[in-house]
This record gives sequence, structure tokens and C-alpha cells, in this order.
Amino acid sequence: MGDAFLEEMEQLLCTQEEEIIRNLISENESYESLINDIVPKDNADQASGDIDSKVLDVVVRRELQKLNQVRNAIARIKSNHYGICIRCGNKISQDRLRAIPYATVCMDCKTAMEKNSAAK
Ligand SMILES: [Zn+2]
Repeated sequence: MGDAFLEEMEQLLCTQEEEIIRNLISENESYESLINDIVPKDNADQASGDIDSKVLDVVVRRELQKLNQVRNAIARIKSNHYGICIRCGNKISQDRLRAIPYATVCMDCKTAMEKNSAAK
């Protein structure tokens, strides 16, 4: 995976991060401090479990989830794990990453996972 592509993706992700935060803040100014409190960049996964579901509506929770994914993707770029499928370890296609910059699984795995969850 070329550096230029990674730079492109990092920029895209940073733009998305800013957009999400702006959306959340426009929704409610108090979310600004909330976002900084509950989604620290270093342990976004752990923090997301602490969100009080009663306080946040569905839209906001979805945005926060996306924010987590975007931030995790940025972290993966920095640690050189970006674009690798977390399920099978294969490279995720650049087309797929351009469409979903925070994708963590390749197209094959996504299809397989969707089949699995549909079967349950
Ligand atoms: Zn895969």
C-alpha cells in the first residue's frame, strides 16, 4: 500500500472526524465536552462502552460509533496496520477503502459475516 494512498485516506478520515464532531456539536453544544470525555483517542473502544444509552439518542450514538471507527482507522494508519482485514489478514482493496475509509474487513469477509448473521 503506497504512502500517497495512506496520506489520502488519513486526510479523508480526519475530514470525516471533523464533520462528525461538528454534527454532534450542532446537535447539542454540551456534546462537545461529552465527546472529549468519553472518546479519548487512546482507548476509544473501552470508552464507548461507558456511554449512557439513556442520555444519547440513536442518531448521536451512531455518530459516536462512527467517530470511534474513524479514530481507530487513523490509529491503524499511524501503526501501519491500515488496510489489512482484521478477520483474514488479507489486504482490503483500495476501492473499498475509498468508499469506506474506516473499513476493517475485506469484501469477502464482510459478505461471509453478513451471511452468518443472516443465518442466525
Ligand atoms: Zn478478510
